Amino acid sequence: MNVHDSEQMVELLGGQGYKTTDDVEKADLIIFNTCSIREKAEQKAYSELGRCRKLKLRKPHLIIGISGCLAQQLGAKFFKRAPYLDLVFGTHNIHRLPEMISHVEAAGSRVVETSFHDSVRSLGILALPRNGSISAYVTVMQGCNNFCTYCVVPYLRGREESRKLQDIVNEVVALADHGIKEVTLLGQNVNSYGETVNGCSGFSTLLKEVGGIEGIKRIRFTTSHPKDLSEDIIRCFAEVDDLCEHIHLPVQSGSDNVIKKMGRYYTSGDYLDKVAELREVCPDISITSDIIVGFPGETEEDFQKTVDLMEKVRFDGLFSFKYSERDGTAAVKFDNKVSEDVKGERLQIVQSLQEKHTLERNRALEGGVEDVLVEGFSKNCRDDVMGRTRSNKIVNFKGSADIAGKTVPVKITKAYLHSLRGELVWAKG
Ligand code: SAH
Ligand code: SF4
Repeated sequence: MNVHDSEQMVELLGGQGYKTTDDVEKADLIIFNTCSIREKAEQKAYSELGRCRKLKLRKPHLIIGISGCLAQQLGAKFFKRAPYLDLVFGTHNIHRLPEMISHVEAAGSRVVETSFHDSVRSLGILALPRNGSISAYVTVMQGCNNFCTYCVVPYLRGREESRKLQDIVNEVVALADHGIKEVTLLGQNVNSYGETVNGCSGFSTLLKEVGGIEGIKRIRFTTSHPKDLSEDIIRCFAEVDDLCEHIHLPVQSGSDNVIKKMGRYYTSGDYLDKVAELREVCPDISITSDIIVGFPGETEEDFQKTVDLMEKVRFDGLFSFKYSERDGTAAVKFDNKVSEDVKGERLQIVQSLQEKHTLERNRALEGGVEDVLVEGFSKNCRDDVMGRTRSNKIVNFKGSADIAGKTVPVKITKAYLHSLRGELVWAKG
């Protein structure tokens, strides 16, 4: 989501004559788009920002701004922490960036803008693809009404707001006209898309509409909340041809006690039922998830239930995190905090188990043929191209750049933890 916000900023600033550069020394404007979901992300933002102090001393006309969740949280207090900052703006104010930059340029004075708006105008900024890219993100809703007890998102990104279906369709059509082949529909909880739009019957309707747009070959979406993953959304995996066989479905924990305290409103049994339904409708579906270890009150027994759930599901991939206490969230007041050491041990267990499962799931593809949408040259070898399977796994194989943007059948010859190796079978359209 932050990546997409940054793309929108690049688009808006392009209209003001700014171009992107890889060399920070050459920059006339630097914007840090921050995340504060966990403490680690927050610390990283502060240390990057600290490095800009010297740049500003050498180049006084350099404009430095900060945006995103951390900016939303601290607002004007940021100027005390980093007096060389010119601009602080929050998650609902991206559309005002040109105006704010003009103000800093003209008046040389600082600008801070962290107000929330009922209707988030930046949702509709069309960020056109750059550098021959074939995939794009499209925000379909923003904010979150769930208030999971560990999470800052509802406080920093505001309440849920869905975009109008027709606006989303128009945006995807425009992206297809610019050569985009794959779109990822984005939202904190995409499954509840439509609840805030009159006359819209929800996310499955949106998937079907986007599925019919010419030129778009693949649709993905993220993130889904298990409690809102309805049968009609699950059926879309069988009914919407362009919908890729992958779902990111964060479970967070395998213990019903912990899930309850997290305020997630499902049980581990409900989660396993959803997984079974998904696999029944779409046997090859790849399922990835998020897990938090060391939530307050998580006992050894609770943790073991998370491990058991992982064994039952065998995820294709997993993002796992140590619980990080966030100011203003309900869990700050919960008893029985888990020590950093125990969190570390549990994280290690989860990560090594997941490596085993990922490798096992990837190896199951060896010998088979996968449709691969080619993105371009591989990172490590110029004789190779890379693309992704519909299940979102990276495949490297020998090929020339002219097949970028095409979907080709590739025989999988070897599976690794983070990618697959293959051979082109024959090229098609
Ligand atoms: N809206 C999405 C995810 C948003 S944040 C959802 O509900 O699934 C992405 C992930 O960060 C979460 O799924 C969770 O696993 C993790 N996360 C959020 N807050 C956290 C915290 N305080 N400590 C550790 N991990 C956290
Ligand atoms: Fe955070 Fe929960 Fe909303 Fe996801 S659903 S953004 S974890 S509050």
